[in-house]
Amino acid sequence: MPTLKKAIIIGAGPAGLAAALQLHRNNNIAITVYELRPEPVTIGGAIGIFPNGMRLLHRMGLYEALLARGSCVTHLEMHSLQNGDIAKVDMSSWAHQQTGFGYLRICRRDLQDVLLTAVAEEHLPVSYNKRIVSVTESPTDVTVTFSDGSTDTADILIGCDGIHSGVRRLHVDPSIVPEYSGIAGTQSIIQSTDLPDALKTHGNAFMTCNGLLAVMPCSAAGDQLFWFFSRETPIPHSESGEARDGWEERRQQEVAGYKDTIRQLIDSGKGEWRETLTEMVNRTEFIGFYPIFRLPLGGKWSTSRTVLLGDAAHAMQPHAGQGVSMALEDVFLLSRLLRDQERGLEDVFAKYEAIRRPRIMEISTLAAKNGRARRDVSSWRLWMKEYMAWATYGLYNRLGLESWGIGQRHLVYDIDQVEVAV
Ligand SMILES: Cc1cc2nc3c(=O)[nH]c(=O)nc-3n(C[C@H](O)[C@H](O)[C@H](O)COP(=O)(O)OP(=O)(O)OC[C@H]3O[C@@H](n4cnc5c(N)ncnc54)[C@H](O)[C@@H]3O)c2cc1C
Repeated sequence: MPTLKKAIIIGAGPAGLAAALQLHRNNNIAITVYELRPEPVTIGGAIGIFPNGMRLLHRMGLYEALLARGSCVTHLEMHSLQNGDIAKVDMSSWAHQQTGFGYLRICRRDLQDVLLTAVAEEHLPVSYNKRIVSVTESPTDVTVTFSDGSTDTADILIGCDGIHSGVRRLHVDPSIVPEYSGIAGTQSIIQSTDLPDALKTHGNAFMTCNGLLAVMPCSAAGDQLFWFFSRETPIPHSESGEARDGWEERRQQEVAGYKDTIRQLIDSGKGEWRETLTEMVNRTEFIGFYPIFRLPLGGKWSTSRTVLLGDAAHAMQPHAGQGVSMALEDVFLLSRLLRDQERGLEDVFAKYEAIRRPRIMEISTLAAKNGRARRDVSSWRLWMKEYMAWATYGLYNRLGLESWGIGQRHLVYDIDQVEVAV
């Protein structure tokens, strides 16, 4: 393959910024990142990154900066609003032992800040307010046109523009459209002042008949808590008949009514958590509402000079906490394959897909399975679920099964160790 001199990256989320850093540092490729939004903003909230992702962030030299901002969460305690404590769930101790990295919960804006700082230190340009409107490929290059009339040309185009990717829709595979998972969530970040220590030291989750309520520390000092309430939510129908309007109406209803919804759930319980959870909801000021969409598997990920990474290729439900880590694995593999001077671009993309598809299939299946645990159930079925969780985790903990890595094997996957020859 002739040496690649220049890449255009569309999207300045985790995939785009990580790709910019890796390809610049490891492949010596000149990069320009184009971002739709007028300035660096995120959808808010906090995300969890498991050991497989933390290891890659460490290789990028970002680990210490992330650790200084996020909260290392080792376990989650599950509770019943009706029947007290259910189980202690180990999140990653076996994977931590194997990799040297644990689980970090960090505000999205902190993750983005750390990535953007690194990108600025390498003097990589990020242009905001850039909406892609067309892509044209020739045998020697690829040209992107933006809605302001400007264009740019490079050897390779990398679509990192998320689930609603313009690169995918305009160029790579317009047939793939996001599908609704049936689950939506509300979430917020609050100050932890005067709340019980149990909220600041580990995660706490509450199974209910109508979804999952969870709260976790998300800052190194423990002064901030992230909570979410994730539940089955039917597709809304609007007066206008437009799906987008329906979601906007639903968003407004959820945002206006979330305190009442959650208070009703809490009030139906009788445990010690009532007061704490009520206070958590009372002090919430801003709330986000997110219907969870995903991409059907099996779409195209590349053309001759264009490739999709991260959510643009394979957005999955967030219920395995792996979206960012999957994007990082994509980036590391692409960078590694591009170092092989013997491979042409189409060969690189074919190898990239052959290695990534089984892994993506495994993790999106896990995420969808975890998502189903949020579906509505009767109070009898909830009791059964709680009992099963109590019995299963009780046995797991008593027999020390975490030392066998059960449920954590996917967290030690190392994309740099995957065989890429041939
Ligand atoms: C509610 C929720 C909770 C989640 N929790 C977790 C979690 O705990 N752990 C985890 O690992 N993952 C989680 N995820 C998933 C995670 O957010 C994504 O997998 C991750 O952000 C993917 O990164 P990305 O860079 O591929 O896409 P994105 O983060 O979506 O970034 C895409 C970027 O491209 C820009 N863009 C979009 N269109 C264009 C265009 N046409 N032109 C230019 N730029 C464009 C966007 O503005 C954005 O900046 C969660 C997702 C949701 C919705």
